[in-house]
Amino acid sequence: MRHKLLVVSGPSGVGKGTLVKALKARRSDVTESVSCTTRPPREGEKHGREYFFLSKEEFLRRIAENDFLEYDEHFGNYYGTPKSFVQEMLKSKSVILEIDVVGALNTKKAIPESVLIMIAPPSLEELKRRLTGRGTETQEAIENRLSRLEYELSQKDKYDYTVVNDDLERALKELETILDSAD
Ligand code: 5GP
Repeated sequence: MRHKLLVVSGPSGVGKGTLVKALKARRSDVTESVSCTTRPPREGEKHGREYFFLSKEEFLRRIAENDFLEYDEHFGNYYGTPKSFVQEMLKSKSVILEIDVVGALNTKKAIPESVLIMIAPPSLEELKRRLTGRGTETQEAIENRLSRLEYELSQKDKYDYTVVNDDLERALKELETILDSAD
């Protein structure tokens, strides 16, 4: 079977990182892309593992060379999915990109065969309660997060699949079915 490019999005707190990690652990034919960024590494981060850390000049050069499937700016730094790296990995495995809605839709434009998967919470009310109940944030930060949550979930009709993360094992099985489905 041909390998797939899976693009996984979902609101903060929905557990998409855990799902992706569990899928990689279970399937040796699945790997995750490593993005490029111009932000400096945080403590413990390794070049080529969490990110490829690039200078702004290098990032801009690679934009000019059309070497990103998609890229965006967050908090004043550039982030992008390296096209040549993903294409190389796709020769031997299916590849997962974990990116936000804007990045996912841009990826679909660049590679129409990519499979967009939205991870949704079983209960919107419960996720909202969790996101507002951390207790360490300002009202403004909470409201930002909630409006982002509403926005992301409102885009789910543009995705190929929505997987509800109600139960890890069940959601994983659903991801595996998508992975193994014919094109
Ligand atoms: P952080 O600096 O905390 O690792 O990530 C900041 C933001 O950049 C997060 O919202 C993350 O999803 C986003 N991001 C990371 N890699 C990429 C990428 O390759 N493309 C896009 N569009 N966003 C990314």
